[in-house]
Parts: sequence; C-alpha cells; structure tokens
Amino acid sequence: MTAFSLDPAQTAWCEELRTLAGERLRPLAEKGEPGHVNRPLIAALGELGLLDRLLGSGALDLCLLRESLARGCTEAETALALQGLGTYPVVQAGTAAHRARWLPEVRAGRAVAAFALSEPGAGSDAAALALDARPAPDGWRLTGEKCWISNAPEADFYTVFARTTRGAGARGVTAFLVPADRPGLTGTPLDMLSPHPIGALAFDGVPVTHDDVLGEPDRGFRVAMNTLNLFRPSVGAFALGMAGAALEATVEHTATRRAFGGPLGDLQAVSHQVAEMATRTEAARLLVYAAAAAYDAGEPGVPRRAAMAKLYATETAQFVVDTAVQLHGARALRRGHLLEHLYREVRAPRIYEGASEVQRTIIAKDLYANREPSA
Ligand SMILES: Cc1cc2nc3c(=O)[nH]c(=O)nc-3n(C[C@H](O)[C@H](O)[C@H](O)COP(=O)(O)OP(=O)(O)OC[C@H]3O[C@@H](n4cnc5c(N)ncnc54)[C@H](O)[C@@H]3O)c2cc1C
Repeated sequence: MTAFSLDPAQTAWCEELRTLAGERLRPLAEKGEPGHVNRPLIAALGELGLLDRLLGSGALDLCLLRESLARGCTEAETALALQGLGTYPVVQAGTAAHRARWLPEVRAGRAVAAFALSEPGAGSDAAALALDARPAPDGWRLTGEKCWISNAPEADFYTVFARTTRGAGARGVTAFLVPADRPGLTGTPLDMLSPHPIGALAFDGVPVTHDDVLGEPDRGFRVAMNTLNLFRPSVGAFALGMAGAALEATVEHTATRRAFGGPLGDLQAVSHQVAEMATRTEAARLLVYAAAAAYDAGEPGVPRRAAMAKLYATETAQFVVDTAVQLHGARALRRGHLLEHLYREVRAPRIYEGASEVQRTIIAKDLYANREPSA
C-alpha cells in the first residue's frame, strides 16, 4: 500500500469487517446494557479472531479494524479497542508468566482488560499521577484512586500506573498488572454521556509484588506512552468510522427527503455541506492512514503525525456528525436513531488519550524543536 490508498486485500478486509459489524456484532451490542461490559460481544470478537488480530497487528491494521467496526457498530469497536488498550502493556512489557496467564484469555474474548492511568488530580498531566505505591516487605501496597477508567469496575485485570518514587514526575512511575480480585481493590461505575462502560477505582493497600511489575520499576510511564503512541492514530480511525457512517446516512437522507418541491440535496446550501463533510472526512482518512503507516515503518516524526491524525479526525468527526444531525432535522434527535447514538459517541475522543489542545501542543513543540535555525 502507499500512504494514499489501500491494496485490494485491505479493502476487502474492511468490507468484511463492516459486514460483520452490522450483521453479527450489532445484534449482540443491542442486547447489552449501556454502561456495562458486554461479555457476549467480547466473546464474539474473540470467536471471530478479531482480538487475536488486534494483539498481533501494527498501527495500520489497528486503524482499519477500528474504522471498519465503527462504521457498523461503535460498541463492538470500543469493546475491541479497550481490550487492546488494557492488554498492550502486557504484550509490550509483560513477563512470560503474565503473557501465558492473560493473553490467551484476552484473545479468546474471555478476559476483560482495562488501562488505569487517569486520576482525579492527573488527567492531561498524567505524569502528576499520585496513586501511592508504598514499599512493603514483599513488594508494594497501592493506595489511592483512579477515575474515568473504561471497563472499570467490571474488568478482570487492570494495567495500573502508580507512583513508586515521589517527586520524580514521569520517572517515578511503575506499571503493574493487577488482577481484579486483589484484596483492597474496589470500584464504582460512572454514568457517562457515551454508552461504554467506565468507572472509578479505589485502592486501599492493594498488595503488588515484583512479579506484578510490567517492565521495570520507575519506568512505567514509558509503558503507558508507548501504548498511547500506538493507539493515538487509531482513535482517529474510530472517529473516521463514525464520520463515514454519518456521511453515508446524510447522502441517503438528503437524496430522498423532499422539501420545497424536490430532494433536500437539490438545495445548494445542503449539498455544499455534504461536500464539505466528505472532503474533511477524506482528508482525515489520509492523515490517519499515513500516520499509522509511518508508525509501522518506524519513520521519523511519528508523534507529530499521530497527534495531527488524532486531532484532525476527532474534530472532523464532531463536525460531520453535528452537520448530519442538522441535515436530518428532528428525526436525528430521536432516542435510538443512528445519529442520536453517534452524537453521544463522538464527543469523548476529543478529550481522551490526549485532548485536542494537548495534540496541538505536541505538534507545536515538534515544529519548534525541528526548525531550521536561521543563518
Ligand atoms: C469516555 C472516556 C473514557 C476514558 N477512558 C480512560 C481509560 O480507559 N483509562 C484512563 O486512564 N483514562 C481514561 N479516560 C480519561 C482521559 O484520559 C482524561 O479525561 C483525559 O486525559 C483528560 O483529563 P481530564 O479529563 O482530567 O481533563 P483535564 O486534564 O483537567 O483537562 C481539561 C481540559 O483542559 C484543557 N487542557 C488540558 N491540558 C491542556 C494543555 N496542556 N494545553 C491546553 N489545554 C489543556 C483541555 O481542553 C482539556 O480537555 C477516559 C475519559 C473519557 C471521557
């Protein structure tokens, strides 16, 4: 593939995924309870081999998976992505024992993973995290809170980032693999606008040992950042899937809905908005694919390109979904309408895994750091 087009096998795979999402996964998603982990849906992702593919894939495959699933079933897309986010630290930095214990379960869709970085006092400024890992004879005791953790409190294991060295910022953070049944670990669900499961975790002296460390003590922030670097373009791909679904619905609606003696699309004020939606979506797609391909090829400039892709695609999806709602009129706001669902789903990606403002900061820092000094 080039940075600008997919090869026929990739295109066919995307079509297959979209069909699976609509026909096989959507009915399971509809049976789920909003705000709770949908285990039958995750099991189906396992049976279909998609979780296996997720754990073995590079950034571009991850983007194609997320975009294609999101076209037909955002719940399936999000369930898959969260398995990746929670498990990638184990793939990347886990011991042979961690991998043997958890990866086959995740691949089969039997174990639910979560990535626990954010805290009430540390969101965008993740290096300020304060979950206290206090030394104990056999390891550490974790005390404190995590919040906004997707899949909490129903996950089976958490990749948890805790402070092992006070005052050391990003250099004093350790990543731990914490099974959900550890004593002292409790959680509360949070009721959010978007329908996916999310909650807060309370740690009351939760015991962890050296066997639970992912990577090395005090080097856990790198584990978190490596995970987020891989996932950042793919958040853009999720957004692209939503934008694509909203655009498709809008072309259909404005071609068939009649007003003032003809279809809405005959009004130039309408058709030009549809053209704008399509153009921005295509531009976002190119940025996402190119950033993911650059990641896979180990090219320079990946953080900047990934930030541009995530920023532009999530902002574009917000614009596209909002415009789609406008062009559909009242019906789009009816509970259960595709666009009502997408309107709720599309908001959070502009905030999580680095808010849009944080992406702009990454881009700007890179530009200044790499500027050619004037003679
Ligand atoms: C649906 C959802 C799912 C989530 N899932 C997870 C999860 O699974 N695991 C996890 O660890 N976390 C998760 N999060 C948390 C997410 O990562 C944080 O919300 C995010 O990092 C922002 O932190 P915050 O909400 O505390 O906002 P704050 O850090 O308080 O920032 C608030 C706002 O201030 C502005 N801002 C912040 N920093 C800057 C800056 N440097 N320059 C300019 N403006 C800035 C931005 O507008 C930002 O949105 C999730 C959040 C949501 C909404």
